[in-house]
Order: sequence, then structure tokens, then C-alpha cells
Amino acid sequence: MKKKEVQMMNNRNKTSAIIFILSIFILSVFFLFPSSSFSAEKSLPSYLTKALKKINPNEVYELCKIISSSEFAGRLTGDEGYTKAAQWAAKKFKRWNLQPAFQAGFLQPYPSPFSLIDEAEMSLLLPGQESHQVTKLKPIEDFLPLLFSDSGDHAGEAVFVGWGISAPDLGYDDYAGLDVQGKFVLCFRGTPNPQDKRFQLHDEHRHRMKVAREKGALGLIYIYPNPLANPNGDRIEGFTPAIISEKIADLILKEKGINAAELKKDLQKYQKPLSFPLKTKIHLQVKTRFFPEGKGYNIVGLIPGSHPNLKKEWLIYGAHFDHCGKHLGQIFPGADDNASGSAVVMAIAQAMARLKPRPKRSVAFILFGGEEMGLQGSQYFVAHPPQKIETMEAMFNFDMVGEGDGAIVIHSPQPEELVHSFQKADEYLSLIIRTAPIRGVGVRGSDYASFFQKGIPCINFISNGPHLHYHLPGDTIYRINPDMLAAMAKLAFLTGYFWANR
Ligand SMILES: [Zn+2]
Repeated sequence: MKKKEVQMMNNRNKTSAIIFILSIFILSVFFLFPSSSFSAEKSLPSYLTKALKKINPNEVYELCKIISSSEFAGRLTGDEGYTKAAQWAAKKFKRWNLQPAFQAGFLQPYPSPFSLIDEAEMSLLLPGQESHQVTKLKPIEDFLPLLFSDSGDHAGEAVFVGWGISAPDLGYDDYAGLDVQGKFVLCFRGTPNPQDKRFQLHDEHRHRMKVAREKGALGLIYIYPNPLANPNGDRIEGFTPAIISEKIADLILKEKGINAAELKKDLQKYQKPLSFPLKTKIHLQVKTRFFPEGKGYNIVGLIPGSHPNLKKEWLIYGAHFDHCGKHLGQIFPGADDNASGSAVVMAIAQAMARLKPRPKRSVAFILFGGEEMGLQGSQYFVAHPPQKIETMEAMFNFDMVGEGDGAIVIHSPQPEELVHSFQKADEYLSLIIRTAPIRGVGVRGSDYASFFQKGIPCINFISNGPHLHYHLPGDTIYRINPDMLAAMAKLAFLTGYFWANR
């Protein structure tokens, strides 16, 4: 034997020894942990592994890119950009052989009045300033009108009114003893006690605006860490609400020797009204166009189940398709919020449509309008469903699933089978980093809230973020991770398959 051959023999022996040890290890893992991902992968039928493989990061990303493109102008429900996008999505559903959920087709129209902000100027006359020295604020960076503002040119003193809540029946009134007639009221968003659900109604933008108007205010100015776009409210004639940054609020509060952050902390700590008039004068000019006849659309496609009896039951995949639109010459593209969720729902629809065999139960895919305006599309859908709401067995919602690298899953605690569905799916995909049960829904939920209120079990999928440019022009496609989109689509596809095929 030559030296080389001996070496090869030794290597061969070594290799067989390694293979032997490895086999023992793999077998013991198999017997010790039969439900581990290893055995699970073995048990996944090939038509599912094939379907998962076909969910391609570039393709989901491309959908997200189109939805958030300037052609659709930020998809403000009612506006032509949204309508164009809705027609585009309906065409895709048709091409992928989904069935329209309504006799008239894929689109479910509903009334959606909306406004566009064309111009806005805001300035402060701080104590001690002469009228030619006013502090001019920068739009978007320092201030932004709420997107349902009316046109107006108003000047008035500022009055700080805590949370802007007047609820004498709950023993709490931020307006008590104050005259806000012809003035701007300044407040934070929130309630004195977040645990106390009785305050929930008072935390709705619509309610807070109405109260301020009834008290005679010119407008309500929210203090947020930074201004952001918000169409969630109704136009009130002659009323010009807006948001200012904490930095600007600090300038206004300086005369009282306090800053916004401390003031908010005090309100939270003492849970008592802490309101006061200020010497600063606010001047706000807004030019808007109001469209009372606006029409919104839900886009609904269906894949019928394969089981003769069970197909009457629906699983719903939903995402809000709308965002904040284009104002002051700036598009709010909403790539993460929520072109990402819409793209994921569309990708799952495409994957489910080419799946053979189809799951036993039917699967519906809905792109909702008007979520940013207060869940309007999903509220309309549950009030006008294409078939009895009782047959809708579960709803999976996707809102902001494009940034980051992990999934957060918020879910109804019951039924257990639903929880098992996403747990089992995650054994293959290892994407979930956190889960939490839904205990109740408030005024800040996404579209799943509309279904949860009807007693339908829900799962809400979110990515771990950071969602840094929330409701800002910076929420662009460049922040989106294609792998995140595809991984989320795969996780939810498999979860839904397990659930709908049980
Ligand atoms: Zn959203």
C-alpha cells in the first residue's frame, strides 16, 4: 500500500466514524424530540414546501414598491390615488384566479369624505416678541394640520388643557373654569388613567375635536414628540386642528417655567386636571379642499374551500391598503404602513390560489380602505359582509410588517387550535420573537379590532421594526426589508393553511 492509500483509508475510516456518530445523534434527536423542527420539516407535504419556496422576497418587495409608488399618491381613501391602487389590486386578484366576493366584483364601495391640505402656515407670537418678530414654524418638522382640518385663517391665544377631556360624569374636566372661546387649546393625546376604560371614548380624536369646538375653540393643537400625518377625524366647519412638536411646545410653555415632557409626566402622575391660559398667540392659516362625496373601497377576493360542507367557513387575511395621501406637496408613501401588509396579503393570495389541493375551508383576502381614518373600511365590511358574519371563523391582520427581521404575533387567546396553528407554522420558519394575547381592543387598534368586536378570533402580525418614520414622508420603500416581507408571508401562509385545512 502506498502512503497515499493508507492516508485515504484512514480518512475513509474517519469519515465513516463521523457519519456513524452523526447518525446516532440525528436518530436520538428524532426520538427524543419528535415534535422538533427537524421532524416537522420531514412531515411537511411537498406541495406545501413548493408553495413556500415560490414566495419570493423580490416579488413581495415589488408589490410593496408599486403600492407605495408616487402613482398612487399615498393612497388616501376617497382620493384618486387610492381608487387607482384599488383597481390595480382588483386586477391582480382577477389575474391570480381569485373569485370576486361581491356580485359587482372585487370592490366594495362605501362613503368616504376626505380633505387635502394644500397650504399651511403657523407662527407664534411669544411673550415679549414684537409683531414683526414672530416665530415661524416649519411645516411637517414643527407643525402639521390634522388632515381633516377645514380651511381657515385664525389667530388667538393659547390655553393648555391637559388631555383635552371634559367628562364631568367621570369627575374629570380639563376645561373646568377656563374660557377657551376664540382661542387655541393645547393638549396631549391620552387620558388621565389608561387603565380606566371609561375614558376610552374621550381619547377618540373625533370626540376630542367636537368638545373643543363646542367650548368655542378655534382649533385644537396636539403636542406630540414630532408632528405626523393623521386623517382620523371629521371636518368641522371653521375648525383648524393641528399637531406641534414638543420642541415648539417648549417655547410656548417657557413662560410657565416648565417643558412639555415634565408637564405630561405631572398629568400622568397626579391624574388631576392641570390647565392654564398662556400669553403666547398662535396664528394658523390653512388652505384645504374638502371632498364630501369621496368614495372608499375594500378589495375582496376569495379562494373557495375544497370541502363541500366546510367551504362555507371563511378564514380572512386582511391588511389596510390606505395611508395618509399627499399634502403640502409631500407624499406620505406609507411603505411600511401599510404597503407592506398589503403586499404580504397579496403574496399569500397568489400562493394560495396556485396551491393544489386547496384547503378545506374558504380563504378571503381583503385590502381595507379607511383604516387611517378610524377603521372605516373594516367597520363597513363587518356591517355589510358578503355572507353571514358568523361564518367568518378567524381574521389575520397585517399592519407594518416591512421593517426588521422578526415577527410579533398578537392573538386571541382562544381557540387553542388557532394558537397551535401559528406555533406549528413557526416550527418550520422560526420567525416569531414575541407573542401576546389580545385582551381587548381600544381606539388605537388596527382592522382586526372590527372583527374582534364581532367575536371573531384574530391574529395580528407585526414586524419588530423600528418603524422609524411612522406617518411621515420618510416611510419609503427604501426602509423595507424584502426578506422580512417574504418570511412574514410564509409564516402566515402556513398558519392559515393549518387553520383552514383542519
Ligand atoms: Zn397602519
